Formats: sequence, C-alpha cells, structure tokens
Amino acid sequence: GALHRRMLEQLEAGERRVREHQETLAHVSRLSTLSEMGAGLAHELNQPLTAIVSYSQAAARLLDEPEPDLGRVRHAVNASVHQAGRAAQIITRLREWVRRAPSQVRATDLVQAAQNVLTLCHADLRRLDIRVVTHVPPVASVQADPVHLEQIILNLLRNAIDALERTPDAQVTLVVESEGGEWTLTVRDNGPGVAPEVLGRLFTPFTTSKDGGLGLGLSLSQTLAQGMGGDLHGANTTTGAAFQLRIPRAEPQPAGAGAAHPGGHP
Ligand code: ADP
Repeated sequence: GALHRRMLEQLEAGERRVREHQETLAHVSRLSTLSEMGAGLAHELNQPLTAIVSYSQAAARLLDEPEPDLGRVRHAVNASVHQAGRAAQIITRLREWVRRAPSQVRATDLVQAAQNVLTLCHADLRRLDIRVVTHVPPVASVQADPVHLEQIILNLLRNAIDALERTPDAQVTLVVESEGGEWTLTVRDNGPGVAPEVLGRLFTPFTTSKDGGLGLGLSLSQTLAQGMGGDLHGANTTTGAAFQLRIPRAEPQPAGAGAAHPGGHP
C-alpha cells in the first residue's frame, strides 16, 4: 500500500527530472547551434534590411521628382513592407527557437518545418554550393512540438552540410512521405557516408568524428523524436548517408483549419 505509493511517487519524480534535464539539454543545444550559425543568420537578416533601405531610398527619390509617379512609389513602399515582414518573421522564429518552454505537442506541418530549416541554412548551402532537391507534398500534418521538430531537422541538415564540405557536385535530398499512421522525412546526402567506427553508435551521446564536435546532435534528436512518439534512424547508402525521421500524423483537423500556415504571413 503505502510503500507501493511512495515508490510510484519517486518513480514519477524521477521521470519528471529526466524530462526536465532533456529539455534543458535541448535548449542548450539550440543556443549552441545558433551561436555556431551566427554569421549565416546575420546574413539572412541583412538581406531584407538592405532591400528595405534601397526601396525606401527609391521611394524618397521618386517623391523628389517634380511630378512623382505615385504608382512606382506605391510599388517601392509595398516591396519595403513585404521585406520588413520577412525580417520580422525571421526574428519571430529565432525568438521561438531560443525560448525555453516546456514541450508542446500539437498539429504541426512537417513540410513547413523543413522549409524553415532550409531558410536557416540557406547561407551555408550557398557558400558550399550544395544543391537541394526536395520531394514533398503541399502539407504533412504531424503531431509534434514545432521547435523540437525543427531542431531535429536542423541537426540532420547541418550534419549533411558538414559531410559535404569537400564533396564535388554536392547534393542534399529531402523527401517527405506518408507511411501508414506516420509521416517520414528522409535527409539524404551524397557525401562520404558515416565512418564505420561511428556507424554502430550514431545515437550514443558523445559520438563524434568532428574536431570540436559535441556528439550530442543525433542522440538528442532521437530522444526528441521518441518523446513525440516517433523515431530517428540512420544508415549509409551506396552514395552517402541517409537519416529518416518518423513522426505520427496529427488527428484530422476540423474543416477549414487544415490549411493554416504556422510560419506564414499574418
Ligand atoms: P556532431 O555533429 O557534434 O559530431 P552528431 O550526433 O550530430 O554530433 O553526429 C555524430 C557523428 O555522426 C558525426 O560526428 C559524424 O561522424 C556522423 N554523421 C552524422 N551525420 C552524418 C552524415 N550525414 N554523413 C556522415 N557522417 C555523419
């Protein structure tokens, strides 16, 4: 009776502590990824800001003319507003990313999450001349914590980018497919593949082949995926490495709510 209850209570307290530690680890890992990506993100934000400056200057110049062409002024102002919206969107996503919030599993679009991550990695992909091929449906609604989902995809994409650093004709392929009650996201690269000495313990913490690597990305990603009722696997292919994330589908949305775009314009 009493002993049994106390044991259960302690077990629950233990599980709660493990969950809290996992969330702290996930948060610290997000911050560390962000600091590694600082330059690329600054570039991403700088683009809309630069565009806003030029559109606004153009509008001011047009207004200085004796008979301003108001149509062109309106166009410049609208373009400037659009770019400001883009900058705000990037900042909103970054704020969500660094926020420390308890896990929130809800209907989330896997395709939108993948696209957000591609935007974050845009600068690195271009710098290394990596081609991105995507095979995705318009929407793939999964039951997931949106920040954790992006964190997993970002880990996979950054690993692929790291692996492709010295690969000519480098390519990353992202595929989103439906499989039974789940959606899968496969990230495939045509790099050297996972080293044999790493392959057996890819998801064991502190497994890394990189100088300065922490070796926590994949183990944390697998934990996060399993926490959402999914899973993460990795293997070599004949042409590189492939990692597959499985996430349960979201319950069908009530009519009219299915087309919501979490990252879209207000
Ligand atoms: P880290 O990136 O800090 O090393 P990870 O847990 O993300 O930590 O990855 C562990 C190791 O798995 C990497 O060091 C690398 O050896 C291997 N790995 C992961 N993804 C790939 C990939 N796409 N191609 C080749 N090796 C990979």
